[in-house]
Amino acid sequence: MLTAEELARYRRHLLLPEVGVAGQEALKAARVLLIGAGGLGSPSALYLAASGVGTLGLIDCDQVEASNLQRQVLYDHASVGRSKVQAAGERLRAMNPQLSVIHHDVEMRAANVCEIFRGYDLVLDGTDRFSARYLANDACVILRKPLVSAAIHRFEGLAMTYVPGQGPCYRCLFPDPPAEGLVPNCAEAGVLGVLPGVMGTIQATEAIKLILGLGEPLLGRLLTYDALRLRFEEFRFARRADCAVCGDHPSILVPQDLDGACDVELPAGVDRLSAAQLQALLGDSAAAIIDVREPHEFQIAHLAGALNIPLAELGRLGEFGAQRRCVFVCRSGVRSLRASALALELGIRDVAHLEGGLLAWARDIDASFDVALP
Ligand SMILES: [Zn+2]
Repeated sequence: MLTAEELARYRRHLLLPEVGVAGQEALKAARVLLIGAGGLGSPSALYLAASGVGTLGLIDCDQVEASNLQRQVLYDHASVGRSKVQAAGERLRAMNPQLSVIHHDVEMRAANVCEIFRGYDLVLDGTDRFSARYLANDACVILRKPLVSAAIHRFEGLAMTYVPGQGPCYRCLFPDPPAEGLVPNCAEAGVLGVLPGVMGTIQATEAIKLILGLGEPLLGRLLTYDALRLRFEEFRFARRADCAVCGDHPSILVPQDLDGACDVELPAGVDRLSAAQLQALLGDSAAAIIDVREPHEFQIAHLAGALNIPLAELGRLGEFGAQRRCVFVCRSGVRSLRASALALELGIRDVAHLEGGLLAWARDIDASFDVALP
């Protein structure tokens, strides 16, 4: 419900039938995570806060430096030397006191990325590090979170949007990260101060459209902006069936740091069950059948006695203890394998999954089982 104060504040939104009260309430309920509170994060955070997004998370472990002020409009002269998330949080709350800002004053790594991402509906990547860009992409694919990515270089910007199950991911476009050091960042190559203003605002626009379910997102389209020629262009690209993270047989099942061991193989210690083996387990109180599909998929049809914990909420596994055997199921066996890998990381010992997913169940056991599209 919107308060009288909110109805007044968001009047220009409420006048748009495409937004209206329901849209404004959706913005208020939305939780958006910004990776990096720098050049791109500044305009996106300011506009999302002004637009009435209820919760903004900021990941950044840097302090404000004098050389940031040329483009990072969240900060002012007095911010130099302060923690970015602290200074940004104060500025954003001063602008919109109804906003809740969550500070993540840490470096995003494989070890903390899932924990942080789980608390949000949508992620905006505004980092200038390739390792963070791939980590954010992989975590969003694995946890099924929409991602709006942008990057800037000298006078040029790039942007693209990923929506789970609806289009290609960043790795489909750029399968392998460039060797660290080969690509100069802003600190080395320089950047036109106003450039992140354009690209960060595009990210905020995409975020608001996704929250409201409006228009056409930048799916499967890489948008490029050339400030010197003042031209926008776009390149279409498709999902790759052999993509290491969103492909049909992904090799990246849990987020990995680029500088650590790369692409993990299928996790050891996961028992792969056939549909017939799973059928024998139904009704066995020592085994918890956990369906990791989204609630709307679960509602259409699910196995008797199955619990629904979507992949992105797997942190809830602790709820019913680690003593029981955890058997993960999903539509095709990709998400359940990911859930298995994440469960092992969470310290759960006895982990199994249904190979081939509920598609295999429908094929081998129950042809009437309705497996909705993801
Ligand atoms: Zn991909």
